[in-house]
Amino acid sequence: MLDRAYTDEVTSSDSGEEVAVAGWAHEIRDLGGITFVILRDRKGQIQVIFKEDEDEDLFNKAQDVGKEDLVHVEGIVEENDQAPGDREIQPTSLEIIGEAETPLPMDVSKNIDSDLSTRLDNRFMDLRKPEIHAIFSLKTKAMEAMQNWFDEDGYIEIDTPLISKGGAEGGAELFPVIYYDEEAFLSQSPQLYKQMLMAAGFDKVYETGTAFRAEEFATSRHVSEINMFDVELAFIEDHHDVMDVQEESFRHTLKKVKEEAADELETLDVNLTVPEEEFPRIKFDRALEILEEEFNHIPDDEGDLDTKGEKLLGEYFEEKGHPAFFVVGYPGEKFYYMQQVEDDEVASRKFDLIYKGQELSSGGQRQHDLETLEKWMEKQEVDKSNFQFYLEAFKFGMPPHGGYGLGIDRMIQKIAELDNIKEAILFPRDPDRLEP
Ligand code: ATP
Ligand code: MG
Repeated sequence: MLDRAYTDEVTSSDSGEEVAVAGWAHEIRDLGGITFVILRDRKGQIQVIFKEDEDEDLFNKAQDVGKEDLVHVEGIVEENDQAPGDREIQPTSLEIIGEAETPLPMDVSKNIDSDLSTRLDNRFMDLRKPEIHAIFSLKTKAMEAMQNWFDEDGYIEIDTPLISKGGAEGGAELFPVIYYDEEAFLSQSPQLYKQMLMAAGFDKVYETGTAFRAEEFATSRHVSEINMFDVELAFIEDHHDVMDVQEESFRHTLKKVKEEAADELETLDVNLTVPEEEFPRIKFDRALEILEEEFNHIPDDEGDLDTKGEKLLGEYFEEKGHPAFFVVGYPGEKFYYMQQVEDDEVASRKFDLIYKGQELSSGGQRQHDLETLEKWMEKQEVDKSNFQFYLEAFKFGMPPHGGYGLGIDRMIQKIAELDNIKEAILFPRDPDRLEP
């Protein structure tokens, strides 16, 4: 390994010590006989000072360093309260490991906001920016916190297939693939498999996986390839047991992010509040009432909340100190696998978690009675022949169960307060983007 310390490991108390660092030339300042190179690695920045009258050879070498060149520097740490972080390096050697071509595809050091499309075209360069870097460091910590919650509670981590014969939720949103000599599809959700694992006696499972949606969207909250966090649990009373899990694990995640990603939040200029009180759980009908009474807004689609509806409800609850809340029982979405409330034909035991005005997850109690399940499949004209393997699992003792699927990218978008979900994905996919 190359001998080097991260820049955040070098402090003014190391004054007089030898150190080696490696990173990209974030900024170069030329003041006549003195040249400053600000070197950036993934942990921070440090100033390196080259003086002509102290080491002419090294000074001349420093003149060859261009912006975003990758350099390795050895030298002595000096305390300097004029320098960022109150310390700098007096170099004894300089090596350019990798030269950067000019012109650069985009600027990294200055706060010039390139448009998102340019940024994504040059994503490796865009990702060098400290404030972009912070998003993915925050994401790592958020996912660790979330998984920890489930691990502590005895959940089993699962991996389900990404290629299958049919999709859980039907045709239009599926990407076809050629699987040897037959047509198959990329998975839009692990729904069927996590349910089958309830019949297998796994009781509590979670999966950090990928889902594909071939939707024709042009929004700031949709992508074609999604990072999903899926949960399923058995022996539940009803969908409130599932909401309890979603609520507690999400609160825990926010709490840990606030504690452990404080630097990232500061870089992103986000003041994160952790909702300590119970998340409100309102019925769909009540959501419509609030929208009409408070905002005079009637969603376009009768059985669903539209984007504007979610946003307005978000404002309404945020003002009352609830950035997160559940909307329960959507009449518009009745997938065959969802449990219908018996005395209420229009409401399903489905819920959405809305956070900062945007849907983060959908879940509910599932249908575990085979006869009813088949009835709903027929009603919804689902081709049962594609799902025999799934239906088998209901014939030999299926416990009552439920779960949810949470969009990880949306969650990070909302926690980090990013305008577009694509900013929360390293290399996002949308109908117009298949590279990089
Ligand atoms: P929406 O109504 O917002 O399009 P959905 O109800 O179709 O989402 P679900 O099938 O309920 O989505 O998926 C569960 C979660 O996965 C959603 O709450 C969301 O966080 C995420 N998700 C779904 N589709 C997408 C997508 N195309 N891009 C990004 N995230 C998505
Ligand atoms: Mg949904």
